[in-house]
Amino acid sequence: MPIERKVIEAEKIEAQRAICAEIFERVAADGQRPLAMVDTYGCQQNEADSEKLRGYLAEMGYGFTMDEFQADVVVINTCAVREHAEMRVLGNVGALTHAKKARPGQIVAVCGCMVQQAHMADKIKRSYPVVDLVFGPHELWRFPELLRSVMEKHKRVFAIDKDEAVAEGIPLRRDGKVKAWLSIMYGCNNFCTYCIVPYVRGRERSRRPEDVVAEAKALVAAGYKDITLLGQNVNSYGKDLDCGVDFADLIRQINDIPGDFLIRFMTSHPKDATEKLFKTMAECEKCAHHIHLPVQSGSDRILKRMNRHYDRAKYLEEVAVARRYMPDLVITTDIIVGFPDETEEDFAETLSLCEAVRYDAMFTFIYSKRVGTPAATMPDPYTREQKQVHFDQLTELANRISGEKHREYEGKTVRVLVDGETGKEEYNLSSRTNGGRLVHLRGDKSLIGQFIDVRITASNTWALYGEVQE
Ligand code: SF4
Repeated sequence: MPIERKVIEAEKIEAQRAICAEIFERVAADGQRPLAMVDTYGCQQNEADSEKLRGYLAEMGYGFTMDEFQADVVVINTCAVREHAEMRVLGNVGALTHAKKARPGQIVAVCGCMVQQAHMADKIKRSYPVVDLVFGPHELWRFPELLRSVMEKHKRVFAIDKDEAVAEGIPLRRDGKVKAWLSIMYGCNNFCTYCIVPYVRGRERSRRPEDVVAEAKALVAAGYKDITLLGQNVNSYGKDLDCGVDFADLIRQINDIPGDFLIRFMTSHPKDATEKLFKTMAECEKCAHHIHLPVQSGSDRILKRMNRHYDRAKYLEEVAVARRYMPDLVITTDIIVGFPDETEEDFAETLSLCEAVRYDAMFTFIYSKRVGTPAATMPDPYTREQKQVHFDQLTELANRISGEKHREYEGKTVRVLVDGETGKEEYNLSSRTNGGRLVHLRGDKSLIGQFIDVRITASNTWALYGEVQE
């Protein structure tokens, strides 16, 4: 049963763009092009949000810098997933005092998931007078209006709303010319007990397939070769729509766009990954054979405490089905070490699951307590030092398996997309295989943006090294 899905009316976005034009007139009158700095923390969804912030700022006439001493507007787009990242953000926000002193009139804005938490917004209000504007992810669509308010009233503005909606038509400014993020949905309904995302980004809202496909077509027409469909749980795409299009159908529609490009996606919740998805991935020639399937733990007891809605057996079966459809499938995962009350036995289950799946890459984290989540109040008798021991053990295993899997590429020829320069002399270009493995090469930079064949000559845990094949 589709739930009610709020959409920001097109006229409201047009009104924001009119404010951009107004600000443009104002800043142009000063005769010097103003500069903005957008600093992004956290996940790809935040990167995609920063592209919208830059899109608006570009329409206001701003150029871009990463030097806060040169910037007239500084926007810090924050993440709330780990405490460590929040501490880093607060440290960096505090340090902006020097830049602001050196550049009177500079406007400092802090936005994103961190400030959507009331205690964090309060902390900034009380302890960080350098900050002029604070707004949460649900307010991003009205950034121009909020910025104008600070400019005109010379007063601090705090806009933290809970009103969740889908906004189309916000201008985007993407940095690269080869790879693009494409948000297909926002928010999450899953309430994993350790995760703050549903509280700060709200419930799932899917963009309509016609809007997603139109954006994908525009990206292909603009020459992008690697399009990553983004959502907290892409596998539940479309459940809130009334058009009967699910995530696999969406991949098929994008696959039908003429052109030579790759479709990637993240993130997939294992409870919602279906055989239909794996079959579609196998049948759609533009869909990369890579799935990021966060398992989080190999212990059924811990998975239950995490509220993940799958168990070890279901996860392993899913991996087996996916590999039946795509024997060359690259599988990566996230794992949390030291979830409250995780015992030696639970951890041993995680190690054995990793040995069984043999992930191409694992992103491992020590559990970070997030205020307001159920896990934050769960008893946890284990010390940080004990968790660190498990973390080191898991990292060692992850590195060993990645190294072994990378060695299997040596001597083979693979098709890669060259995506940029490394800045190093010996291997000056970077590229990715269809499965997303990093390959360093030597070659002319005119190869950037091209699919080419490469013979893999060497490897280590983190990357492959290859020679361009004529
Ligand atoms: S699926 Fe779980 S971990 Fe992922 S964003 Fe949603 S609540 Fe967080």
